[in-house]
Amino acid sequence: MNTPRSRQIVVAGAGIAGLTAAIAFARKGFSVQLYEQAPQIQEAGAGLQIPPNATRLLAALGALEHLLPAAIAPERIELRGAKRQKLLSSIELGARAETRWKAPYLVAHRADLQSALLARAQRDPDIRIVTGARVSDAALHARGATVSIDRKGRIDEVSCLLLVGADGVHSSVRGLGGGTPADRPSGYVAWRTTVRRDSRLGQALAEAMPQDAVTAFLHRRFHLVAYPLRGGSAVNLVAVTRADAGGKADAADHAPLSAAMRGLRGALATLADDAAPWTPWPISEVDPRISWTGEVGAALIGDAAHAMTPFAAQGAAMGIEDAVVLAELVAARPDDMPAALAAYEALRRPRVARAAARGRLNQRAYHAAGPMALGRNLVMRLRGERLAADLDWLYGYDALAEAKAALEKKAGREAAGR
Ligand SMILES: Cc1cc2nc3c(=O)[nH]c(=O)nc-3n(C[C@H](O)[C@H](O)[C@H](O)COP(=O)(O)OP(=O)(O)OC[C@H]3O[C@@H](n4cnc5c(N)ncnc54)[C@H](O)[C@@H]3O)c2cc1C
Repeated sequence: MNTPRSRQIVVAGAGIAGLTAAIAFARKGFSVQLYEQAPQIQEAGAGLQIPPNATRLLAALGALEHLLPAAIAPERIELRGAKRQKLLSSIELGARAETRWKAPYLVAHRADLQSALLARAQRDPDIRIVTGARVSDAALHARGATVSIDRKGRIDEVSCLLLVGADGVHSSVRGLGGGTPADRPSGYVAWRTTVRRDSRLGQALAEAMPQDAVTAFLHRRFHLVAYPLRGGSAVNLVAVTRADAGGKADAADHAPLSAAMRGLRGALATLADDAAPWTPWPISEVDPRISWTGEVGAALIGDAAHAMTPFAAQGAAMGIEDAVVLAELVAARPDDMPAALAAYEALRRPRVARAAARGRLNQRAYHAAGPMALGRNLVMRLRGERLAADLDWLYGYDALAEAKAALEKKAGREAAGR
């Protein structure tokens, strides 16, 4: 490859964050090598909520058009108590979300988002995607990085301006600077499955919840989120329990989930058994104190930097924001990487910390018991319409505009100092 090192970016990992980074850097004129260790680019899991702070960026990158045919824009988020299934509160989405936050709130199959990003990336001649290729080592130095790529035991070396670690919660790029492993169990397990809408269970679920909404059932032992997928032909179900709710997570044994959901009524009474098999997904998070950048040569984005519990449904959205911001800031200062990377961390840390804090708040509210649950229900009823306003800072955020504003501010300070 003849691209000079100064225009070359290596991305480790073709998940949502890595694919977005590849598109964002190529859009800024860089040549991108995207390495994915798996033999094919494919997404495990089922549904994903894609909030307006993410869809706004997907639109700016030209990926939203690839996603829209496969996505659904739900009309509302409904919060219901799981026991009586009574509505506690709702947040209007659909056209109202688009008016309020200037971008749609979507739900889609993860594979559809991945395919949309891949379709957009493959259209770009400056992006080379290599599967079955693991980023196995890197030497970071003043003018960039030399990255080792392991393809079935054959090691190639690639020089680049920046190595972007988008290799997920168990990132190995994170450890390249000699750091300790920073991922740890969160204490929660997510149980995922999908149900065909035209099945007997799908029909029963249609009576327990609206078909055009994201519904969250709240309970002290678990919460369950349900929403339509793939033109409404399927219902996506994700339940979250404590990891210690009856043993370790085992795909063949959903007994911990059945135990957490015992004593419910209607379609939820036997849902844990009826909707099996569930895929248990022990949730890990990343120590928020780790650095996301060396001074030179490497930067972490997405779950590699800050995997969080899914209570705010923002993990992938944060990875998309990271990718766009990093590309914008590096493109403005390719010759001063320490400054670009410091600006990246300075802009992203408070934002990610606030989203994670929102997740922790939801976690306490969703699994509240006794008087706490009564208080929660009261607050939700009283806040009513204002629940949407409480989310303006989250969904109304424009990461690209924030990056541009940070650059202008810096340029202004430099001009004043001259
Ligand atoms: C139950 C659950 C529900 C969720 N719901 C939502 C939601 O509704 N909305 C939302 O925004 N977020 C949600 N999230 C969070 C979201 O799924 C993650 O934040 C997001 O998928 C992380 O993307 P990523 O690209 O950073 O990492 P990953 O998806 O983990 O991708 C990392 C990629 O890197 C590859 N890789 C690893 N190591 C190497 C290496 N050394 N070299 C090359 N390739 C490598 C891996 O094979 C993988 O393809 C949820 C999470 C869970 C657990």
